[in-house]
Amino acid sequence: MSQHYDLIAIGGGSGGLSAAERAAKYGAKTAVIEAGKLGGTCVNLGCVPKKVMWYGANIAHMLHDAQDYGFEVSAYDFRWQELKHHRDQYVGNINSWYHTYLTDSNIDEIQGYARFVDAHTLDVGGRHYSADHIVIAPGSYPIVPPIEGADLGITSDGFFDLEDRPRRVAVVGSGYIAVEIAGVLNALGSDVTMFLRKEHLLRKFDAMLRESLMEEMLNHGLSIISSSQIEKVERLMDGTLNLHCSKGQLYSGFDQLIWAVGRAPSSAGLQLDRAGVATDSDGYILVDEFQNSNVPGVYALGDITPAPQLTPVAIAAARRLADRLFGGMKDRKLDYSLIPSVVFSHPPIATVGLTETEARAGHGEAVKVYQTRFTPMYHAFTDNQSHVAMKLVCVGAQERVVGCHIIGMGADEMLQGFAVAMRMGATKKDFDDTIAIHPTAAEELVTMR
Ligand SMILES: Cc1cc2nc3c(=O)[nH]c(=O)nc-3n(C[C@H](O)[C@H](O)[C@H](O)COP(=O)(O)OP(=O)(O)OC[C@H]3O[C@@H](n4cnc5c(N)ncnc54)[C@H](O)[C@@H]3O)c2cc1C
Repeated sequence: MSQHYDLIAIGGGSGGLSAAERAAKYGAKTAVIEAGKLGGTCVNLGCVPKKVMWYGANIAHMLHDAQDYGFEVSAYDFRWQELKHHRDQYVGNINSWYHTYLTDSNIDEIQGYARFVDAHTLDVGGRHYSADHIVIAPGSYPIVPPIEGADLGITSDGFFDLEDRPRRVAVVGSGYIAVEIAGVLNALGSDVTMFLRKEHLLRKFDAMLRESLMEEMLNHGLSIISSSQIEKVERLMDGTLNLHCSKGQLYSGFDQLIWAVGRAPSSAGLQLDRAGVATDSDGYILVDEFQNSNVPGVYALGDITPAPQLTPVAIAAARRLADRLFGGMKDRKLDYSLIPSVVFSHPPIATVGLTETEARAGHGEAVKVYQTRFTPMYHAFTDNQSHVAMKLVCVGAQERVVGCHIIGMGADEMLQGFAVAMRMGATKKDFDDTIAIHPTAAEELVTMR
């Protein structure tokens, strides 16, 4: 006999927890099945521990700048283990909170790995659970390339396990996770070399952001080796790693190698075939705009779908799905356009909407771009000369703002409000008519010519 629910979520991460939580608020009998730790990637191996490390790295940069503000801080000690200890405690507290929260919210927590028995039944360690609605939200995992010696390296998961700061690190990858990890390690004192398969960092981002970030990272002393394909990794007798690249180059002397070359959907073990759920060739579950899979009563959201892999995207899709299934909102769905996001680089990047290239491809001559680059007041007399660069991409006679791209100190906290304005259809004139807040860097966004 299986235990029956209105809704079961596979995965107690951002998406699964949010689906169960919203459904339970409508009075549905719900359960979450989690194989690992509640909170999923974001809480345990992603956004949260990453942001703690980013704050630590920011403090290192500020200690450097402090001397130009008259502080004598030339000798300071950094203890990686202490930062990790505090970070782990903080993450542990969030885990504990989730257990209590599920109990308080009347959501059953089922520990274990879920596999489909049929479209409405799941097996978890030999026990069966059935539901009218099953939400698949098991997320994704970091991949390593299929090359000799790849397992001598770690991934972002292993980065959060490091007990000590590596001395000399190779970070392989050009996406936001590679950029963020490389920036943190560099600021905290590691000697960092990034290996990019192609020419650019953050390939899909606006060119202004890519180029500015590359310049900032080089100024901070990171080495960036572009157009390189690592073909073999070997460990030498002294414990260091050799990286052999496709064009015959050899890079040596690394005590740590971090792969940040992408993630794959966690769909392989779910036995989706038993439910008849379709995936694409990479294993991502195919869904329509309402998160419906091809099987009635089975849905998917978050990193297991080809949607942007961001926590607020998984949460929003989950809440809207529960609103639709249990809240009587039959047309409720997530609008996947204009999703803002931040890269916690040094300095940070914030971006929403079309890049200039995308806008020109779609709207041609109707595109007008406003751009600025300046030294923020904070860096006016610091040895570190970090810049702010901003771009507004506008379209049509009304100059509707369809893209907003910022790199520089404070960008991470600047964009959220502008993203609201853009969703409401703001034009360049609306930006211009908004009174600036002075003196800030953000004011440049409403004073650009
Ligand atoms: C290093 C890093 C930094 C990131 N930083 C950010 C950031 O700053 N901002 C942002 O918005 N996003 C960030 N992300 C992305 C974000 O973490 C994900 O997009 C988000 O967690 C996806 O939510 P999800 O519910 O789809 O999956 P997850 O949060 O990964 O949850 C899936 C859960 O399902 C469990 N599971 C898997 N298979 C099964 C199974 N068969 N049975 C039971 N349980 C199962 C897993 O253990 C996991 O806990 C980051 C990711 C990484 C890796």
